[in-house]
Amino acid sequence: SSEEDAAKAAAVVADTGAPTIFDKIIAKEIPSTIVYEDEKVLAFRDISPEAPVHVLVIPKFRDGLTQLGKAEEKHSEILGRLLYAAKVVAEKEGILDGFRVVINSGPSACQSVYHLHLHVLGGRQMKWPPG
Ligand code: 5GP
Repeated sequence: SSEEDAAKAAAVVADTGAPTIFDKIIAKEIPSTIVYEDEKVLAFRDISPEAPVHVLVIPKFRDGLTQLGKAEEKHSEILGRLLYAAKVVAEKEGILDGFRVVINSGPSACQSVYHLHLHVLGGRQMKWPPG
C-alpha cells in the first residue's frame, strides 16, 4: 500500500561506516543464494525480491565504499567490475533482452544497507519512472 511505502521510505538508515549484514554474507556466516562470484565481486539473490530476477552485486572489499555517493577515483576499477558483473548476472539469468540496474545511494534514495550494491532486476516488464 502507499502507507507501507511511506513507512518504508521514512525508515531511514544512517551511513555509520559500521560493518553490515553483507560482510556476513561475504564471509558465508549468513547463507545466501549465490549467482556469481569471483575474487572481487559477489552476486546473490535479494531476500525480498521486487521482480522475478532480483540479484544484488557487491564488492567483497568495501574499502570505504558504503554508498556510491562516497566513491573516490580509486574505486573506479571496482565500480567497472561491478557493472560488468551485473551484465554477466543478467546473461546467466536469461534476461539480457531487458533488465534494470539500480543503485540506491543515501537516505533520500532509500538505501538500507551501507555496503555499495547494484540491484539487477528483470524477468518482468519494468516501469518508468521508478518511485
Ligand atoms: P537498498 O535498500 O540498500 O538499496 O538494498 C538493500 C537490499 O538488501 C534490499 O533489497 C534487501 O531486501 C536486501 N537484503 C537485506 N538483508 C538481506 C539479507 O540478509 N540477505 C539478502 N539476500 N538480501 C538482503
